[in-house]
Formats: sequence, structure tokens, C-alpha cells
Amino acid sequence: MAKNIPVTRSSMPPFEEYCEEIKKLWDSRWLTNNGVEHQALQKELEAYLDCPHVVLYTNGHLALEHVIDAFAFPQGSEVVTTPFTFASTTHAITRCGLIPVFCDVREDDYTMDADKIESLITEKTVAIVPVHVYGNLCQVEKIAAIAEKYNLKVIYDAAHAFGVWYKGKSSASFGDASMFSFHATKVFNTIEGGAVCLRDGALANVLNVRKNFGIRSPEEVPFVGGNAKMSEFQAAMGLSNLRHLSGEIARRRAAVERYRERLSGVKGIKLCPKQAGVTSNYAYFPVVFDGFTATRDEVFDKLAEKGITARKYFYPLTNSFDCYGDLCTAGVKKTPVAAHLADRVLTLPLYADLTLEDVDRVCDAILP
Ligand SMILES: *Cc1c(COP(=O)(O)O)cnc(C)c1O
Repeated sequence: MAKNIPVTRSSMPPFEEYCEEIKKLWDSRWLTNNGVEHQALQKELEAYLDCPHVVLYTNGHLALEHVIDAFAFPQGSEVVTTPFTFASTTHAITRCGLIPVFCDVREDDYTMDADKIESLITEKTVAIVPVHVYGNLCQVEKIAAIAEKYNLKVIYDAAHAFGVWYKGKSSASFGDASMFSFHATKVFNTIEGGAVCLRDGALANVLNVRKNFGIRSPEEVPFVGGNAKMSEFQAAMGLSNLRHLSGEIARRRAAVERYRERLSGVKGIKLCPKQAGVTSNYAYFPVVFDGFTATRDEVFDKLAEKGITARKYFYPLTNSFDCYGDLCTAGVKKTPVAAHLADRVLTLPLYADLTLEDVDRVCDAILP
């Protein structure tokens, strides 16, 4: 029996390298609260992402919640967002007391369809929260123009887009802020972790205070904060992983190229076209089965029988979640393109350690 192929597998540095990185923590006994590892990772990420302010968090979800919350929009305000995303995006908006308004996505790259945003804007709209799905960049220029016209904030869920560049600009440079996730399954991980990237230094200071209970100094608590700090061990994992990132992305790229070679031009199989001007991080390999010899669910089951795990990602859409049943803006009928994709898409196994033989096994299992 051939070995199982999981859908993802975390990138990790050599064991000794991580041990070396955390050794100093046994001397300092400083395990969290903006220690040396945290400070070093923040600096390195500001350089790598070419972004003046990076605020580190214990996970990406809290990073998103905290930055949305920090804008202090009136409760009940509306936020235009996409249902073709992970639960986190919609939950973050809702947990801040705001109403998600779902915009449909584009057929080719699955990101929010900027041409459909304006019709969703009302006098209650305060922000747009688009998602760089699978590392595909959103229509950043169009979204910026709409935001400017209607005076809206743009907060990108860039959880998938670490290490993506557009016309030489880092994915961290768009909108008022971008959230990255450094979860174990992402291209770059700190075990759990995340960051908000922004150009506004004053807002970065606010975020840094709010992630530590709103405590600015021992006797000064200006905000109702929470606890969302990244620990030293997480930061150490990040520093170690960052040294190997370009190699990990190159290995992902080789796997993706093999997938494309094998699956391009097959009737009923649709792949994401390469985006013009975008340097990819090869985060995911989504395939849409539309008019193929088997349905998406049949392909999923067939792969599972052969010990290969794929993921129905993103299915279901967040606007069909039970918890949003009462929302008048919910319901997949309002986002037909997203609904069509969610029923047909599968992300195939992809990680740096995936061999070309593994890719061939996955493709052999899919192809008739
Ligand atoms: C992973 C992910 C998140 C949440 O990040 P965590 O670090 O797991 O909290 C948010 N949005 C999207 C699109 C994601 O894929």
C-alpha cells in the first residue's frame, strides 16, 4: 500500500536550528510579551514584506478581529466582503458588531468581483474586507478607487498571500491594512500566528496596546483590549522558517508546475490562470470540476479511497453557514458565481515536501 498523501504538511526548520533559536529563552526566562524573538521577527517581516509596521499576533483570526475593531466603526455598520473564504473572515466582521454584506467573486481567480461592489454600498457601509483567495491577488486598484470614492476603509484578508508580489509591490502594501496568517498550514508558519501590516504608525501603536489588554503602561489603560500576543516560541519558529522560505516556495512551485502539466487542457477541469504581473507563493492548487467525467464529490471520494486527501475549500460558503441564517444579506443565491465554484472546487495536496511522484499519483487517481 502506497503511503497516504495529506492535503497539507507544515514547513519546519531543521530541529537543531529551532533548538538553537530557542536556547536563549532558557537563559532569559522571557517567554512572551515582546521579547527578543518577537522583536527580531517583527523587524525581519517589516523588511521582507517591505512594510513600515508589522504587528504580530498569536493567530491570524485575532489579528483580523483586532484591526477591524480598532477602526471603531459604529455598531451595525455594513462591511462588503466575500463568502468564498474561510469562516474566520466573516466571523471577524460579525464579532466586531458589524454586518457582513456578501459580494460575489470572479469566475477566473475567485476573488471579490470589484465590478459588483458598488451596487452593495449603502449609507451604512464603512469598509471592504476582500480576501486574496489561494494567494490570488484581488483587483487592488479597482477596490482602492471604489474605497476612495465612497470613503471606505479596505482591510485585506491576506492569510493566503504571504510572499506574493504584484508589479514589484508586496501583498502587504494594499488597502489600509492587511492581515496575514502564520498558521501551521500556511506557506509561512509560526505554528499558530498572524500579523497586521499597515503604513499608519499611530494605528500600529494602538494595535500593539490593544493586543496586550489595552495596557499602555502600568498605570494607563486607554483601551478595552484583549490578549492576542505572539509568544517567543512562535516568533522563534517564524525566524527559523523565514530562512528557508524561498526554498520552500520553490519546491511548491515545482509541484504546481507538474500539476499544471498533467491537468491543463483536460476536458471539464479548470485551473486558475496565472495572474498577470503577480509573483505567486504557490499556496494552494485549486481545481474546478465542471463537466468532467466525475463530479467534485466523486473525485474527492476516489482520492480518499487511494489514501489521498483533498479539501473542499471553500465549501460551504460562509453565507450559507447556520450561524448566518438570520442575516438578511446571507444566502448563496445572491452570490451565484461563488455558489457554482463552491460546489465544484477541490484543492489538491500541496506542500513543499510533496514529490513529483506524489503529484503524479494524485493526477493518475483523478484522470480517467
Ligand atoms: C487561515 C485563515 C485565516 C485565519 O488564520 P488563523 O491564523 O488560522 O487564525 C483567516 N482567513 C483565511 C482566508 C485563512 O485561510
